[in-house]
Amino acid sequence: MVDESRLVRLFETLVRIYSPSRKEQVIADYIKGYIEALGFLAYEDEAGTGDVLSSGNVIVTIPGTAEGPCILFVSHLDTVEPAKDVEPVIENGVIRSKGDTVLGADDKAGVAVMLELASILASKSVLHGPVHLIFTVAEEVGLEGAKALDLSDKKIDYTYVLDASGKVGTIVISAPYQDSFEIEFKGRAAHAGMAPEMGISAIVAASKAIGCMKLGRIDDETTANVGVIEGGKAGNIVPDKARVVAEARSLDVNKLEAQAQHMMECCKAAAKEIGAKVDIKRYRPYDGYLHTGDDPVVKNVMDKMLAVGITPRLEKSGGGSDTNVFNSKGISAVNLGVGYDHVHTTDEYMPISEMVKLANLLVELVKVK
Ligand SMILES: [Zn+2]
Repeated sequence: MVDESRLVRLFETLVRIYSPSRKEQVIADYIKGYIEALGFLAYEDEAGTGDVLSSGNVIVTIPGTAEGPCILFVSHLDTVEPAKDVEPVIENGVIRSKGDTVLGADDKAGVAVMLELASILASKSVLHGPVHLIFTVAEEVGLEGAKALDLSDKKIDYTYVLDASGKVGTIVISAPYQDSFEIEFKGRAAHAGMAPEMGISAIVAASKAIGCMKLGRIDDETTANVGVIEGGKAGNIVPDKARVVAEARSLDVNKLEAQAQHMMECCKAAAKEIGAKVDIKRYRPYDGYLHTGDDPVVKNVMDKMLAVGITPRLEKSGGGSDTNVFNSKGISAVNLGVGYDHVHTTDEYMPISEMVKLANLLVELVKVK
């Protein structure tokens, strides 16, 4: 059924295709060709930017051969840099890059396993319900492809995103809501030696604000961080501008709201205290989600894991993925561990055995007895 050497060859081909975010056209064309050669239909939606190298999401429908639930699998086509000229190296059953690039297993291992499933279904060796495969673009730069998806014409029972670190068996049942803040403090410039009393230091305002903020781990569901601070021109000028970039995350939207209000209050109070101004831009890159082990989408995959000898592990994530977007569109989804590790670094690796395990799980998920 799962053909290990076909799967590994396919994975190697995929990681060699350069596909950073918003430049996925070459790999999108490869996927469409692969699917069409199997006799299935693939199309690209309008999520691209219009640039010749930027593609839409690739959407594949495989009609069921039997009555059964409709399953959607999702992986993303883009990778982080450095990803030019990836040279996969296999050692002791583990695939790595040569060391000067990421491997791109995030998320091409998910992509490869979904294509392997398509090959297996094309061979007509299993009876299965309807299956959709979606390969999204621009995931790494803000889940843009997933946000652009229109799924209103599809009736989907279970959605599984293949894009989590950790061994196969990992089921990410929750991920946080996130708020991001672009904060600009505005003071008044003055000569620091001759007329400091004429100035209002934007840097002082920013540091008072940050000093007032509860940051780091707020509680077991909530975190906050100031990630960037910049401003000022020279040691002898009272700075008139300071820019701060911050974020807060929580599994609980009410706790996020409280933390966001607290951080914004700190900024306003600090600015007011010294007569500066503050301009705060707050936006939500994605909503969170929270499932329990009793939710059908979770229970279904747990049962199928046990059926193929995989031990399910329910986990909470601290980060966002396409899964957040599907859930906020009202499509109940969880993120599954693909088996890769050290993603977004040149030490990223992918055990072949995990890729095979995941492919077996996908077959089990779509199979109708
Ligand atoms: Zn990913």
